[in-house]
This record gives sequence, C-alpha cells and structure tokens, in this order.
Amino acid sequence: MAPLPAPLSVTDYRARIASLVPPAPVVPRPLAECVGLVLGEDVVAPVPMPPFDNSAMDGYAVRAADVAAAGGHASVALPVPVDIPAGRTDVVPLAPGTAHRIMTGAPVPPGADAIVKVEDTDGGEQRVAVRAPVEPGTHIRRVGEDVADGTTVLRAGTVLSSAQLGLAAAIGRAELPVYRPVRVLVLSTGSELVEPGNPLLHGQIYESNSVLLAAAVREIGGEPTVLRFVPDDVPAFHEAVSSHAGADLLITSGGVSAGAYEVVKDALTGQGVEFVRVAIQPGGPQGSGRFGALPVVTLPGNPVSTALSFELFVRPALLAAMGRRDVDRPRVRARTTEELRSPAGKRQFRRGHLDGSSVTPVGGPGSHLLASFAASDCLIEIPEETTDVPAGTELDVLVLRH
Ligand code: AMP
Ligand code: MG
Repeated sequence: MAPLPAPLSVTDYRARIASLVPPAPVVPRPLAECVGLVLGEDVVAPVPMPPFDNSAMDGYAVRAADVAAAGGHASVALPVPVDIPAGRTDVVPLAPGTAHRIMTGAPVPPGADAIVKVEDTDGGEQRVAVRAPVEPGTHIRRVGEDVADGTTVLRAGTVLSSAQLGLAAAIGRAELPVYRPVRVLVLSTGSELVEPGNPLLHGQIYESNSVLLAAAVREIGGEPTVLRFVPDDVPAFHEAVSSHAGADLLITSGGVSAGAYEVVKDALTGQGVEFVRVAIQPGGPQGSGRFGALPVVTLPGNPVSTALSFELFVRPALLAAMGRRDVDRPRVRARTTEELRSPAGKRQFRRGHLDGSSVTPVGGPGSHLLASFAASDCLIEIPEETTDVPAGTELDVLVLRH
C-alpha cells in the first residue's frame, strides 16, 4: 500500500477553505435588515446634520441684546407673536423687541440669535417675562454641526450596528449597500441518526450536527438551510444535494473517515472534492472542493470535530466572504491549571474555561464530548511539536464566548 500523504497543516487547510468561498455580492438592503452585516461602500451624507439651525431647548427665541437687562430681580417683558413647535416648516422671522415661543428641534427664526430656556421665564404665551440674560448663540444647534454635507460618515468595511444604522437613517438613507449574507446548505449523514423528538432504538443517536452548524452560521449573520439528513447511502446523498440553486457553500458532516460506509467520501471522490488529513486533533479527516459549481466543505461527524472544524476553518471563510476583516476570535495567553498531553505532530484544541490569565481544561480530548464543549468558553491551542504540557504552562487560548 502506498504511504499516506503527509497531513496538511491547520494553517494551510484554513487558507484552502478561505479561498474556496467567494465574496458575497454587495446588495442594497433596508436598514432594519442590515444589523451585523458589513457595509460594502462608503456612505456620504447628502444633507448636513442638523439640516437647519434649531433650538436645543423648549423656551423662547430672542435677540440676546433685547434681554441683556434681565437678571437678578429684573426681568424683561416681551410680546410673543407666534409659537414655533417642532415640525413647523414655514419661516417666521423675529421682529426686534419680540420673542417667539419655540420647542426643542424647531427651526430658529431669522433675526433670533439665542434661545432662553423656559425655566428662565414665566412661561407666558402672549407675553413673556425673561428673568436671565443669554449670550448670543445660546441653545442653538447649528446646521452641519454634527455632519457637514458631503462628509463620508460611514466607511466600507464597517460592521453595522445600531449606532451606524441610526446615523444612516438620520442622513436620509432607507437602504445601505451590504455584503449579502452567505447562503449555506447543511447536510448531515449517518444511518444511525434520528431526528430529535422521536424515540431512539438501540444503536441510534439523535442528529445534532445540523442544528449546531445552522446555529453557528446564523451566529455570524449567514443564512443556513438545513437539508433533510441522509443515511449512509450514496444515491440518497446525491438526491439530497441535487438541487442547490443559489447556495454559496454546502457543509456536510460525517462519512469522511477511513472506515467503510463513508458516504460523503464515496459520493464525492472524483467529483471535484479532495479528501485529506489535517494535522489537527480533533477533526483530522477533512474534505473540500467544488461539486459542480458549488463549494463544498465536508466535516467529520463527531460533534466536537464538526464544531471545531466549523470554528477554525469555515467560520473565518464565511466571515471574510461577508466582507469582515476581523475573522479571528480574540487570542489571549493563559496558564493551564492542569497538566495536558497532546499527540506529536498535531495541533490540539482542548475545550477550556478562561478565568483572567489562567485556563482550566473542560473535559478530555475526546471528539464525542459535546457536553464539555457546551460547558466551555474557549479553546486551548497546543502546538504541533508540544506533547507534554505541565500545569502552569502558558498557552494560546481562543476566546469563543465571554
Ligand atoms: P462519522 O464521521 O460519520 O464516522 O461519524 C463519527 C461519529 O459522529 C459517529 O459516532 C457518529 O454517530 C457521530 N455523528 C455523525 N454525524 C452526526 C450527527 N449529525 N449528529 C450527531 N452525531 C453524529
Ligand atoms: Mg457516519
């Protein structure tokens, strides 16, 4: 038998998957559907903000000179010819020696140079007694003070959150150009699998990878479609993946190891998908390529292998396709509270709990230990050349959750 080819490094395989998923197109989307998506183009303000000089207070628009004598026990009485509530769109100039009652956000009338806040007056409606003087400019929000028109207010590459979307609306945008969410098909394989909610026979297990993978796609803003899982049967597999119009990526789980009945391997070998070993634990057997036009990543079936493979290889590729520049989890250094062992020549990822600068392993290295994975908040990375890790050793830790 020919010797097995050398396994690919984690770094090389990650790059391979990154180049497999093409960038998603930039499309216009209503603001409400843009949360968490990445802006595809710079956005320029077509209007200044505020769009006109307006009052920062409920009070009276005046000429500062007309109320200069107010203060101490003295007040200045002025007639109040009009009311300017917010939303009034006609222009009512202020005549010398008068005051217009004005509300917050209402346009400052020409002729006025300051706002006296209502608390410094008697609140009169026909005539007002002003009790305090004001400096010219007081309580006026100037046109363009926040944004001059023509300013680039949002840069391409920005991950859109509430603050940026509020700003986009404030400059009059109803839609923004964003990288469209990636469309990901998820297909689990295995004759032992049973849909959760149904009874199990001896020898069967509940199908969990598709739920995990679909949720992981959603967590990064992608749009998963879960295909009905298939038994270890090649025609059933082909039938399941026969229609995939519009998908950006197919992720399968299971059926890629070295045993018999490896349905994914059997169905996709020679079909544009290459099956390899990666120098990683867990999750060594991997496959990827293009099935027709459809990019495919085939993950090993053990739940923790599936989860970690998605985390390390697929997640960064999908984020990059959606325009994200920061595709990596935060990486910190922490000391392990326990001794660890790792196989030579493989990069091992252990589940852990991070507490400041120390990290405690959660569960063993087994790739079936899904409860330990669910109880962990980080991955402890043990380099390929390291086999023995005494307690107290400082290691790289990938932060998954806070
Ligand atoms: P495989 O990669 O198909 O050899 O599967 C490896 C292990 O993962 C086996 O114990 C399977 O029963 C389990 N497994 C595979 N697919 C799933 C799945 N979708 N949900 C839960 N466990 C799975
Ligand atoms: Mg299987």
